[in-house]
Amino acid sequence: MLTKTIYILVDCIAVINILFLLKAMKNNSEYYAKWLSYALKTAIVAILANIFVACSFNKVSAEISYALYFSSIDWIIYCLTVFCLVYTNHRRFSKRFAMPTMIIMAVDTVSILLNLLFNHVFYIFETKDASGVIFYQTGFRPLYYFHLAVDYIPLAFVLFLFVYQMFKSYSMYRIKYIGILSVLIFVIVLNIIYMTAGLLLDASVIFYSVAGTLVYFCISTFVPKSLMSVSVGSATDNMNEGLILFDLNDNCIYANTFSKERFDVNEKTYNFKSEPVATVVNTLRSKGHEYGTHHYIHTVSSNGVITEEHYNIRYSELTDKKGRTIGSYFLIEDTTEDVRYLREIQEAKNIADAANSAKSTFLANMSHEIRTPLNSILGLNEMILRTVEDPLLKEYSENIRSSGNALLGIINDILDFSKIEANKMDIRPTDYNPHDLLRECYNYFHQMAEGKDLYYTINCDENIPSVLNGDNKLIRQIMSNLISNAIKYTKTGGVSVNVSCSELNDKKVDLLITISDTGIGIDAKDIDTLFDSFKRVDEKENYTIQGTGLGLSITKDLIKLMNGNIIVESAPGAGSTFRVSIPQKITDKTPLGTFKIHDDKKPEHVYRESFHAPTAHILIVDDIKVNLTVIKALLKKTELKIDTAGGGDEAIELCKKHKYDVILLDHRMPAPDGIETFVSISSEGLNTLTPVVMLTANALIGMDVEYAELGFSAYLTKPIQSAELEKTLIDLLPEEKVELTEPEQI
Ligand code: ADP
Repeated sequence: MLTKTIYILVDCIAVINILFLLKAMKNNSEYYAKWLSYALKTAIVAILANIFVACSFNKVSAEISYALYFSSIDWIIYCLTVFCLVYTNHRRFSKRFAMPTMIIMAVDTVSILLNLLFNHVFYIFETKDASGVIFYQTGFRPLYYFHLAVDYIPLAFVLFLFVYQMFKSYSMYRIKYIGILSVLIFVIVLNIIYMTAGLLLDASVIFYSVAGTLVYFCISTFVPKSLMSVSVGSATDNMNEGLILFDLNDNCIYANTFSKERFDVNEKTYNFKSEPVATVVNTLRSKGHEYGTHHYIHTVSSNGVITEEHYNIRYSELTDKKGRTIGSYFLIEDTTEDVRYLREIQEAKNIADAANSAKSTFLANMSHEIRTPLNSILGLNEMILRTVEDPLLKEYSENIRSSGNALLGIINDILDFSKIEANKMDIRPTDYNPHDLLRECYNYFHQMAEGKDLYYTINCDENIPSVLNGDNKLIRQIMSNLISNAIKYTKTGGVSVNVSCSELNDKKVDLLITISDTGIGIDAKDIDTLFDSFKRVDEKENYTIQGTGLGLSITKDLIKLMNGNIIVESAPGAGSTFRVSIPQKITDKTPLGTFKIHDDKKPEHVYRESFHAPTAHILIVDDIKVNLTVIKALLKKTELKIDTAGGGDEAIELCKKHKYDVILLDHRMPAPDGIETFVSISSEGLNTLTPVVMLTANALIGMDVEYAELGFSAYLTKPIQSAELEKTLIDLLPEEKVELTEPEQI
């Protein structure tokens, strides 16, 4: 009775365990899980049948229950075999195997059930234990061997297949076979031990529960985890980065192939004192960091050649899913190529910078070399203009002046271009009246248009604010470039300029300037490259028209500098329209009203000095004699007392003897140059406080700031313009010595 109760209790535990397994597997939609659940459900039937055997009240009911129990065991093995085939990716095979085996199994089941009718011809016997309790056992009759064959041949085949596949498959998938095989062998061995120990068969039902649990553990935990660890291990070994893991006690637990190959890491001997981790940890700690990244340089010597390898090594904490520290790791990234690449880029940049600075020097030299003779040409021509009476000679002289100014324009364009390229073009906003700007544009070009028999009109919206704030000089330069192009590239018809504005907000407007011409127009294919530097359209056809291909490039850059925009609409033969918009601040919102052109027809060139200063004494220093002559001549009518010096040394000597009111000093002179001379003069002697004006042919980037910083009071670029020279002197000479000429006299 006690034995029976124990059996029933064990059976109930086994059923409960299987029910839990079934519940856990509910969410697994894989095909193999279906077969495992069939096996487990059949196991429940077997266990329940076993309970019925124990509880049966007569021989018939006991035998029926036992037959049920016995045949369900066959089906468990069947389902388990199919599961194994499906799980190990032999689904096709399982489909072929399932039907014939099922038929044989059905025959076997029927024969077991018929056992009762045919007086135990099959193999189930009633037996009694020592205390007289009746049990049922199998007996070794011929049908029993058939039964065994039906059950175990497929299983043996599966086992064989597993062993075969285990050797054949890749390490990752081998785990699946090893897992299931070990479970099956374990359960079979337990069963054999159980049977050979002479124990009663009934208790073997617990093995279904044990087997189910083990298989479940195998497919849900062991195999995935093993697969993951094999995959992760293989992935980290194939990684192009190093990975070294340490446990909480700083013992190395893993190093991937990369680390082993590059740093000779051996997990057993490697620790925090080994390189490169020692350097990384020490450097980080010396900077007060626990974890972080360090750039490590590894020197490798091979065949006497020493090379540097660069690594970025990241030292981080290793945590589990709950964020608890479980160790640390080093991730080693080879940056040798990046470093080499960066060095190459840096070298290329240095070369480019050197080339760029060579270009700037070249521009400075070119500017100087051209401006110096141009200074003499224009200066002396100015003298001719001032003195000559003969109209023909005067016309020739006027022509020299306009050609000289055109040449100066080209040099200025090139310098502007280099300033923009070097990002040294500044915006200098001032308050200005838009009408004044437009008048200047009109006066500057209307003669040029007239000369070509073209109309030239300027229309201005009456509502434009009367005072805007922005860099009007740059806007004038933009408009000049576009208007001069429009006149240059138009043969008949003319040019019209329209100016309006659209309010952006209370304090800002977009100044909209439209310049339209009826000229040769531009082909659509050329519009994209129109604003490229040194690019001229139809170079052959426009050969006769003067230009460098820089104007539009500078125009676009200047507009961009002021956050504006330019668009072109043009077609060959139909003229061109350039639309410019530039944001400007509003200083005075009052509308400007009607725009009127004061036709300031350029007066014939009549020079009149703007001041007289007979008591003032100035010194002019230049190593080029003709320049001294030019400046002296330009200032002749001002009655200034002028000394000249042909070099720095001579100037210093003169400064020791005389106290000058202003000194005009050339920059580029054989030693001492203008700056050295200036330093000597202003550090000792009579002229330490005398204003010094730098005369320079170098109109390059930022020179104004540079000269001001050095202590010069002003600077004048060559070719020296007479009006500018006089204005500078009026500003710098002692007020009491300057007598301005009456305005109406000019
Ligand atoms: P350039 O010094 O040659 O005038 P730009 O940069 O000012 O250089 O202009 C580039 C080219 O664009 C010119 O060579 C010319 O072919 C074309 N272009 C510029 N403005 C006009 C225009 N208003 N009509 C026709 N073609 C123009």
